[in-house]
Amino acid sequence: MSTAEAPSHLHENPYEIARQQLRRVGETFGIDPNLIGVLELCKKTVEVSIPTRMDDGSVNVYTGYRVTHNIARGPSKGGIRYHPAVTRDEVKALSIWMTWKCSLMGLPFGGAKGGVVVDPKLLSRRELERMTRRFTSEIINEIGPEKDIPAPDVGTDASVMAWIFDTFSMNKGHSVLGVVTGKPLAIGGSLGRLEATARGALYCIEEVLREETRSIDGLRVAVQGAGNVGGHLARMLVEEGATVIAISDSQGGIHNSAGLDIPSALAYKAERGSFEGFRDAETITNEELILLECDVLAPCALEQVITAENAPHVQARIVCEGANGPVTPTADEILEDRGIVVLPDVLANAGGVVVSYFEWVQGLQEYFWKEEQVNARLNEIVTRAFRETWETRLERRTSMRMAAYGIAVQRVAEATITRGLYP
Ligand code: NAD
Repeated sequence: MSTAEAPSHLHENPYEIARQQLRRVGETFGIDPNLIGVLELCKKTVEVSIPTRMDDGSVNVYTGYRVTHNIARGPSKGGIRYHPAVTRDEVKALSIWMTWKCSLMGLPFGGAKGGVVVDPKLLSRRELERMTRRFTSEIINEIGPEKDIPAPDVGTDASVMAWIFDTFSMNKGHSVLGVVTGKPLAIGGSLGRLEATARGALYCIEEVLREETRSIDGLRVAVQGAGNVGGHLARMLVEEGATVIAISDSQGGIHNSAGLDIPSALAYKAERGSFEGFRDAETITNEELILLECDVLAPCALEQVITAENAPHVQARIVCEGANGPVTPTADEILEDRGIVVLPDVLANAGGVVVSYFEWVQGLQEYFWKEEQVNARLNEIVTRAFRETWETRLERRTSMRMAAYGIAVQRVAEATITRGLYP
């Protein structure tokens, strides 16, 4: 696919970016080019059409994808995105990043991703359920607890996971808890899963501050996105003593350099659907939010929001990638040259897949853990991955992203070589 065909909000084709990143990792870490040639491509890409009965009796047909990138280290794992700009190449890129993320965290999973080209906000709940159940049926041979395990992503939530779980289970004739993660607690979800991605990002920010012998008290943070990742991260940061000076959603954001009342702002948005008109704050655009003077900038919405154009003007010292792929490769180099620490997505937003792994384990064992156990084990895994990445960065004199990818790709390469090439 050419760049021109990339999703409308993107400047560059994410699949090409993911492949270029891998080739650079291969060169830097001396990985066999034959192996890079294998890892650059996705193992399986399934495209389905999803005819859906609308409430008025008409039928809409949506396009859906499920891509498995790699299964060398275990079954594939990755979210399902409902967004009007989803493309096959975007889903492929996201599946590749999932492989590295699972590997960096040391989880026994490969990478996958799914997506449906749909604006879920335009569907009624019944329509969303029918569409989700039909999509699940169309990919029913691709997913399963020992095969490929979906989870929520942009535009999907615990209810969508409940419908996938139920549709899969009805077809099997019994409940299959391990088929999907991010489920509601009532049907085998894990305590701590909802907030896990944000919690992992928080742990990463705390680790950088530890390196700088700086406390989180008074840390000034701008958060783009107020969904699962951005909303929870903003709330947790404030609870830990940081000052969140800006937050946004797809319609724009709010800013107060003295700090926002985040719990009230999130409650206001939940009630009214947007931040507009929130007290004690000025309205800003998503573009302006990126350029605010702050300690930490946390892009937690969509890809490619920090580009070659705005990277020279970013004023944060630390960029924490809550979203997947929010910084383009050129912007990444600019930030690196300017001495800005970028906590890459495969590290900073991996908390979600770590607790998804816990949910999968709990489901297979039908034995559920306390929230403190979940959070303590999450902290252990994310902190270990952070330390490994930080040390590799210092040893190799490279960026956090290159260090993280290097560790992750080497592990997948080792598993692939150890298994051998079939037949
Ligand atoms: P979500 O749907 O809950 O929230 C997305 C947020 O982004 C919403 O506040 C939305 O209004 C905002 N948004 C949408 N378009 C925007 C735009 N053009 N500009 C600014 N804001 C915009 O999604 P989420 O689960 O919070 O996921 C956000 C990002 O985090 C995605 O990149 C996703 O892949 C990544 N991620 C999510 C998880 C998870 O567990 N949910 C795990 C890892 C990574």
